[in-house]
Order: sequence, then structure tokens, then C-alpha cells
Amino acid sequence: MAIAGQFAMEELTLTLPATMQAAVYRGANDVRLETVPVPDIGAGELLVRVHTCGVCGTDLKKIATGSHSAPRIFGHETSGIVAATGAGVDEFKPGDRVVCFHHIPCGNCYYCQRKTFAQCATYKKVGCTAGFEPSGGGFAEYVRVMDWIVQNGTVRIPDAVSFEEACFVEPVNTCIKGIERLQPCAGETVLVIGQGPIGILLAALAQRAGARVITSDLHGQRLTISKDFGLENSIDASRVDVIQEVRRMTESRGADAAILAVGGNGLIKTALDAVRPGGRVLLFAQTARGEAAIDPAAICVDEKTLLGSYSASVDLQDRSVQFVMGREMNLGRLISHRFPLSQSSEAFDLAAHPQPSSMKVVIQPGNSWPASRPGSRRRNAEGNS
Ligand SMILES: [Zn+2]
Ligand SMILES: [Zn+2]
Repeated sequence: MAIAGQFAMEELTLTLPATMQAAVYRGANDVRLETVPVPDIGAGELLVRVHTCGVCGTDLKKIATGSHSAPRIFGHETSGIVAATGAGVDEFKPGDRVVCFHHIPCGNCYYCQRKTFAQCATYKKVGCTAGFEPSGGGFAEYVRVMDWIVQNGTVRIPDAVSFEEACFVEPVNTCIKGIERLQPCAGETVLVIGQGPIGILLAALAQRAGARVITSDLHGQRLTISKDFGLENSIDASRVDVIQEVRRMTESRGADAAILAVGGNGLIKTALDAVRPGGRVLLFAQTARGEAAIDPAAICVDEKTLLGSYSASVDLQDRSVQFVMGREMNLGRLISHRFPLSQSSEAFDLAAHPQPSSMKVVIQPGNSWPASRPGSRRRNAEGNS
């Protein structure tokens, strides 16, 4: 059966078309399905045929604000199969199932030596493109993977793992990084505000670190899903006061730590009020610059600490890969909506305006591939698209 599957995968790479479909960003709130050339690859590079690409909050922010010059093709949570290899590539061959990172630091420079990887000049270069200014390229049928990403940022997907699951390597990495920053430990109570897919991942990771986790969300449907992941202590914020409820559950003290997994600044005060004196608050979704009201005495007198974490860390890549490829969590359960590439606009729209039932949204250029591997077979298993 594995052999038949392999043949099916190779069929997908036999003939390379000259053009392909892509969701092209043309400016603020303007993404169009266009026909563009299939990218050429050079020595040491790969051409990957995209099966699934997750829609990330950072993609939505770029699209909504028009913060980047146009045109571009976004999408960086990309899995698919190798369609062609450049000269000198021995590690991979056509038909291999892979997931690609889009940023990899050099590992040697001043910043890398100090583990400030995001400041590395190599890290700032995006190493995957479907054309135009390199921007990830996962929202297209094919993506060109540049040599340093082939060497250090391309991971083979085991047979038992679906393309959808593999797309979580980057988001899981960002969550592991956030948890490393917060350092929850056994005996502590951690409140996680927001139970979208990222909030659930953060909560599950905090629980694995030994903490007692309390989750909260305005949508009961989300709390039902988080309970499936063993997150039993939940607060329906549409009905009860989160701060009072957390205090009730912690002998009136407040949680030892809180994670804010919802965007906007409105809940920073709630998070600070929900932790005990000396407690800490991790801002995980506050990516928009601006000002927020904070009681300075909460930091000074009450000795509470505000922390932040953003993006992934190359240091945590192996752990993230192990977590995803080892299927330590049912990540497919976090996907609520799957869209073909032709409906990318709908996908972005839904992801930008989440409904009570929506969790992770993915775009699947490979939704019509033969059902030869788990990645294809699982489609619609739990989704409602
Ligand atoms: Zn992302
Ligand atoms: Zn570097």
C-alpha cells in the first residue's frame, strides 16, 4: 500500500506546468486569484507542490493593513510534495512529502550567537517564494524553496502524519517559545484567555509543563473543543466574570500566570487583574503597535510582570517537529475549515472574522490530489466546509 501511495505521489510530479494558480496580494484587503508562472528553481533548491497551507494571524494582519508592498504571495505554514530538485540536491527527491520553514537564521552571526535569531540578517530573508518579492508563497500551487531552507528548514513528513498536521510545525514552535518564556511549572495555576487553535495549543503545552490550566473564552463551542484536549477547567466568559472565577478557584489569590491568546488590548487589564501579586502575564497576540492602558502600580506595587513572545525560534525546531510528527496532540482537530485555493478570499475573510465554530483555517491547493496518503484521506473528517 505504501508503494501504491508512493506511485500516486510521483504521478503528481511527473509533468510540471508552465503556469499555476496563486492567491496574489495586490494591496490592503485585495487578494486575487491569478495565473502566474510556476517558479524556476536553481542549484540546491526545491520546487514543492503545495498540499496545505495554514492561514496565520500574521498573514491576515499584512492583508488587512497593507503593511507590505504589493504584489506578493503569502503563506508560510506550508506542506506538500517535492515536485522537482535543483542540481546538487541529494537529500530530497520528487515525491517526498515535506514541510518547509520560511525563515532560517545563519547560526553564526553576532545575533545568532546571542540567540536573538529574529535579528539575524539571514533570518530576515524569506526563503520560500511563489513569485514576486519572496513572502512565503504557500498560497499557490507551487513554491520555490531556496537553498538555505532546503539545507536547514525542510522536514520530511512521516507516512502516519497528514499534510494538515504537518502545517502546524511553525505555529507549534511559536507556542513552545511562548511557554518557554512564561516558564509555567508544577503546582502553578495558569489562566489562558482565548481558546482558538493557538490558545488551545498554549493551554495544552502549559498543562504538559505541569501547571493546572484554566481556560476562558466567550464562545462555549470553543471550550467544548478545548475539553477534548483534556483542558477541563474552563470559564465561559460570556456568562461569568473571569477574574472573580479565577480567584474563586485559587483561594482568592489569582492565577500564578496568565496567557493572552486573543488579539487587541482590551483584555490586558483582565489578565493582569486575574493573576496574583508577583504573577506574570504573557502577551501572545498583541501584535499591533499602539498604546494600552495599564495600571503601573500593578507592575510596581503588586510586582506583576508583563512578558511577550513572538514568532518561532530555530532552537525549538526539533522539539516542534517531534511534537507534530510524533502526533503528541490531535492537531487535525484544531482545523475547522478547509478551502481550495480558488476560495482563498473566503478563507481569509473567515479567518479574519472568526465565528464561534471556527478554529484553524487552511487553504488546500492539493485538495484534488488522489487520496493516497493520510493527508488526503482525512479531509472533511471533522470539518464543516
Ligand atoms: Zn504563522
Ligand atoms: Zn545569524
